[in-house]
Amino acid sequence: MTTPPTDADWEKAVAALTAPTEVALACHVFPDADAVGSMLAVAHALRRRGTRVLPSFGAPFTLADSLRSLPGVDLLVPPERVPAAPDLLVTFDTGSVDRLGSLADRVAGAGEVLVVDHHASNTGYGTLHLVDPGASATAVLAEEIVRRLGEPLNADVAACLYAGLITDTGSFRFAATTPETHELAARLLATGIRHDVLARELFDTHPFGWLSMVGTVLARARLEPAAAGGLGLVWTDTRAAELSEHGLAADQAESVVDLVRTAREAEVAVVCKELPGGGYSVSARSKGRVDVGAACVALGGGGHRFAAGFTSYADLDATMAAVRDALAGAPRT
Ligand code: 5GP
Ligand code: MN
Repeated sequence: MTTPPTDADWEKAVAALTAPTEVALACHVFPDADAVGSMLAVAHALRRRGTRVLPSFGAPFTLADSLRSLPGVDLLVPPERVPAAPDLLVTFDTGSVDRLGSLADRVAGAGEVLVVDHHASNTGYGTLHLVDPGASATAVLAEEIVRRLGEPLNADVAACLYAGLITDTGSFRFAATTPETHELAARLLATGIRHDVLARELFDTHPFGWLSMVGTVLARARLEPAAAGGLGLVWTDTRAAELSEHGLAADQAESVVDLVRTAREAEVAVVCKELPGGGYSVSARSKGRVDVGAACVALGGGGHRFAAGFTSYADLDATMAAVRDALAGAPRT
């Protein structure tokens, strides 16, 4: 699934989107701004056409605080309300069926499955695909859907797309940012959205307890200069008990990797986020020389070359041993 969509792919996708009277939409579990923003943007456009929309994501059906002000979150329905056999299921930012969690079984039941995604590791599990690994965010593809549906880029749609775009490009800092990314951003800002408020909500707002939690987690970060073939690894872990001690929801651990990856001495940064039920959700980041996407695919996960992850059911020592092995064997430039 690594070739960008052709005109014929777009035409088939638009035909599929305009046929049914009701469309089920889904994104990956523990959705980020690109997943839920892309999904809600297309939901807004379909609703304007008079289509009933059922946007959802797999359990736990809890949205991160930072995403609760996105226009259209009130449209979200719990996963139980998504029919077993929808005429059309559209998935967003979801590289494989397992990432749909409790909605994964709807893929087999649906009449058509349209996959809208930008992960190079996408497994091609749909009947129709708009998968472009060259797109800096799924939001880029969602905008083209809205445009090809002939629906306006209004402020509600734009806020949802902008949230996805700035999240996945690291506020236009990451390598996937192109002139087209900035042109899209310009079109989104021209709708009059409060991009400053959105960015503050998404990146710069935490409960006070987050400061202490981060202090503790960063204090135990370890640097392993010999790892990743001598390019260096910096890593730490977040603990469920420490999060609850500070009254923090699980998503408050997500931004830790952005702090850890700033260590100059390491090419690769890893954060093992302990899951409340045991095991770890692991985030990996590379500065560009090591393909952490390939390493995480080898560990049962997925992602992009420079930002990827996987889920581990082993303890911390065994999880990190597997990470070191995968990094030693990962492609690099
Ligand atoms: P993050 O570290 O921000 O959670 O995720 C970085 C990238 O890795 C995202 O593109 C995300 O989709 C992917 N990713 C993170 N965790 C997993 C996982 O458990 N499985 C898979 N397949 N991909 C993951
Ligand atoms: Mn994305």
